[in-house]
Amino acid sequence: MPLADNLATVRERIARACERAGRDPASVELLAVTKGQPPEVVRAAADLGLTLFGENKVQEARAKIPLCPGRLRWHLIGHLQTNKVRDAVHCFAWIHSVDSLRLAEEIDRQANRQARHLPVLLEVNVAGEANKFGYAPDRLLAELEALNQCRRLEIHGLMTLAPWTPTPERVRPVFRRLADLKARCEERLGAPLAHLSMGMSGDFEVAIEEGATLVRIGTALFGERPV
Ligand SMILES: *Cc1c(COP(=O)(O)O)cnc(C)c1O
Repeated sequence: MPLADNLATVRERIARACERAGRDPASVELLAVTKGQPPEVVRAAADLGLTLFGENKVQEARAKIPLCPGRLRWHLIGHLQTNKVRDAVHCFAWIHSVDSLRLAEEIDRQANRQARHLPVLLEVNVAGEANKFGYAPDRLLAELEALNQCRRLEIHGLMTLAPWTPTPERVRPVFRRLADLKARCEERLGAPLAHLSMGMSGDFEVAIEEGATLVRIGTALFGERPV
């Protein structure tokens, strides 16, 4: 079965990247990105032992998650509009894409209504690409204190999407800058942040070498997404 082989290959590549970086492989979590994939694919992945899944659209997740095994953990990795926050807080264990104070405050409000706390990551547009969501690094530092006032949010770290490149080595500086920014945020907050969500199918090994704790992998596991 290709999924089983793909998973073994990805795990092996994660392990080798950890070895190169002198890191414990247990410090890197594999988040299987199932956007565009049907519930059968999620079930097959769950049968192989995967428990952590990522979706980028609230609407798609809302339809799909109830058709998947109940024990799975779901993370929202795509842009979130404020009018979808209620559903997002209902569907997801974590949100990786907090990119404004306004969004954070809405998540805080909905989490409060649903009587829960929400682990979140702050998304950063490290390379300043016009077509990407995420905080500019300076803006994030300026808003960090206010974000930290949202009592129902648990800020666990930072997330980024590196620019697309056929040569992953070229985006190493992007991952390094996210790791540096995390250190600056930790200094400001006076508390450690455990997570860096960075690295996808094309660049996860470099991301791991630069400190990724969550790698978000779709096509390397499931092949090209159905259109
Ligand atoms: C689709 C997606 C991924 C996974 O991309 P692949 O290249 O298929 O591994 C990771 N992160 C985000 C935010 C995505 O939207």
